[in-house]
Amino acid sequence: MERTFVMVKPDGIDRRLIGEIIGRFERRGLRIVGLKLLRPDRSLAERHYAVHRDKPFFGELVEFITGGAVVALAIEGPQAITLVRQMMGALKPEQAAPGTIRGDYTTDIQANLVHGSDGPETARAELDLWFRPGELLD
Ligand code: ATP
Ligand code: MG
Repeated sequence: MERTFVMVKPDGIDRRLIGEIIGRFERRGLRIVGLKLLRPDRSLAERHYAVHRDKPFFGELVEFITGGAVVALAIEGPQAITLVRQMMGALKPEQAAPGTIRGDYTTDIQANLVHGSDGPETARAELDLWFRPGELLD
């Protein structure tokens, strides 16, 4: 059993796609073990995307993520990290396959609706960053 951190980004909230996005993970059979709606501050956004600190799009990315509310999720299941990444779709719009969240609902490389941890270490670190231990189900 694996746990991963997922975020519905501000464009997902603006576009009223929270239910659609969470529903896809639930219908797949993945289990929600943590969930909250919040507006991330700059410090949280910068820590979350610290790996991209030196990229040209970093400033814009932090502005985007702090520009509205997000839904933070802890999702559990067998190979949850990989399954979530597959269901999100690729970063580049032309590579995001139909049937994936990005491939079905966005053409934008930045406003791409959803984040999912990209590996076991990232998942642990991101879950620790966004949730306190008592906020997650056993
Ligand atoms: P995420 O980390 O959000 O799950 P990802 O792993 O598919 O997405 P990353 O390469 O980690 O993609 O980029 C993190 C986020 O930064 C992207 O989801 C997107 O919102 C933004 N981003 C990435 N590349 C660009 C770019 N070239 N221009 C603008 N924004 C970008
Ligand atoms: Mg990433």
